[in-house]
Amino acid sequence: MAAREHYLIVGGSAAGVAAAFALRRSGFEGQVTVVEAGAELPYERPPLSKALGTGEAASLRPIVPAEDYRAAAVGLRLRSRVDRLDPARRTAWLCDGSALRADRILLATGASARRLTIPGSDLPGVMTLRDADDARRLAVAISAGGPVVVIGGGFIGMEVAAAARAAGCAVTVVEAAALPLVGALGRPLAELVTALHREHGVHVRTGASAEAFHGSGTVGEVRLSTGERLPAAAVVVGVGVVPNDTLAAAAGIRCDGGIVVDLQGRTSHPWIRAAGDVTVQPHPHLATAGRIEHWDNALRQGAVAGAAMAGGLRVHDGLPYFWSEQYGLTLQVLGRPRTGDELLLRPGAGPRRFLALWRRGGAVVAAAGLDTVRDLAAARKLIETRAMVSAGKLLDPATDLRLLARS
Ligand SMILES: Cc1cc2nc3c(=O)[nH]c(=O)nc-3n(C[C@H](O)[C@H](O)[C@H](O)COP(=O)(O)OP(=O)(O)OC[C@H]3O[C@@H](n4cnc5c(N)ncnc54)[C@H](O)[C@@H]3O)c2cc1C
Repeated sequence: MAAREHYLIVGGSAAGVAAAFALRRSGFEGQVTVVEAGAELPYERPPLSKALGTGEAASLRPIVPAEDYRAAAVGLRLRSRVDRLDPARRTAWLCDGSALRADRILLATGASARRLTIPGSDLPGVMTLRDADDARRLAVAISAGGPVVVIGGGFIGMEVAAAARAAGCAVTVVEAAALPLVGALGRPLAELVTALHREHGVHVRTGASAEAFHGSGTVGEVRLSTGERLPAAAVVVGVGVVPNDTLAAAAGIRCDGGIVVDLQGRTSHPWIRAAGDVTVQPHPHLATAGRIEHWDNALRQGAVAGAAMAGGLRVHDGLPYFWSEQYGLTLQVLGRPRTGDELLLRPGAGPRRFLALWRRGGAVVAAAGLDTVRDLAAARKLIETRAMVSAGKLLDPATDLRLLARS
């Protein structure tokens, strides 16, 4: 490999940074540049929704320290946005009009918070949460005391609800489905997590959606589809994300709800790979190709794509994993349960602690736990080894999962 080759990474977050360092670990000796639109040293996003009420929102946790970029000779260009790709000329055009030639490109452009277009969506005080600036704005709003209305009972919405409650705000979560988190966790677990929030005083309003935001100067009220009006000093819209794939689509790269990649991050153009939230991947744990919007996925898929750019052969097929933190409790999910999987909720489940396993064809394929970190580590072993364990054994309170995993 010629030392003068230049590999360009667009997007400096989990996937892009992991790819840059994987290139070096894989022996790539050419030039590596990470171009990042944001102004901050690449930082961890997960703490943004968890440290909101604690005054820690202002201090960002870097993904890797600044000196590591220098030590690994990874060039980091902050406040730089790639506006256009020219695959024929192997060139990326930046927002300042300059051009970067690159022998290979990785798109790690991530996702943006989906916004609502209902009346009043532009009012000050109606917020989304995706980056550090959003978190700072939201922390200020929470410290002002609420009331806070969260639109959308997904993970970000429920974490914001927990943080705002911990800071003493009155909080209402508005969710169109029958329960918050029901899509990700299924009904029995969603009921337990909802009960946890209700125990902490969150008002959970299901089967309703926001129709308009009202206020003079700043938001003051949310009108629901039921006609109900909720007072609001701050509104957090947490209704999912949209992949940042317009750069790829404009360059003629195949996109279908995200950039379509294979297990090594190859796109439809040999010059370009992609990784992270922006991708639609054919992951073996998914029923059909889709996006996996988790921190751990972005790190690992980015590392595989970076290594593959340097000639590596590894594929990205590890167990999907994510976690969430609410009221000081850690919720973890391993694998992707599918419709038809058998859900086994271990005895003793309650709103503050539970462990659930899913079986498919007799094998353990997924697990979720609240405040059961060590059992989840055992469940990971069972899933990764595709252990065949009877439902009776998994449900027996006398069965120690850690011993089972070791055997
Ligand atoms: C508040 C919050 C809490 C979260 N909590 C958890 C959690 O607890 N557990 C979990 O598993 N996951 C969590 N996630 C999800 C996780 O953060 C994402 O899955 C992860 O950040 C995806 O990483 P990424 O590198 O693919 O993309 P992103 O993190 O979205 O980063 C993409 C980067 O690309 C840059 N960019 C985009 N376009 C361009 C361009 N044209 N030129 C230059 N730069 C560009 C953007 O500025 C951005 O920095 C959370 C997310 C948020 C927002």
